[in-house]
Amino acid sequence: MKANDSAVKPRIVRCPTCGGDSVFAPSNLWRPFCSERCRQIDLGAWASESYAVEAKPPSPDDADEPLSH
Ligand SMILES: [Zn+2]
Repeated sequence: MKANDSAVKPRIVRCPTCGGDSVFAPSNLWRPFCSERCRQIDLGAWASESYAVEAKPPSPDDADEPLSH
């Protein structure tokens, strides 16, 4: 069993922007991206599409405001 390997080995993930290898470790400030550039590109793309992505209507059940006490 190798349950604790993740604590020793750096995890390699795929950079969401360029699809390259990215080190998923505290040493990589831009994780899960491989570099600052890829991170900025992704954030920019996300911001421009946020209107379409943020299509979640507010659920009335989540309104937890005490109307009366
Ligand atoms: Zn990248």
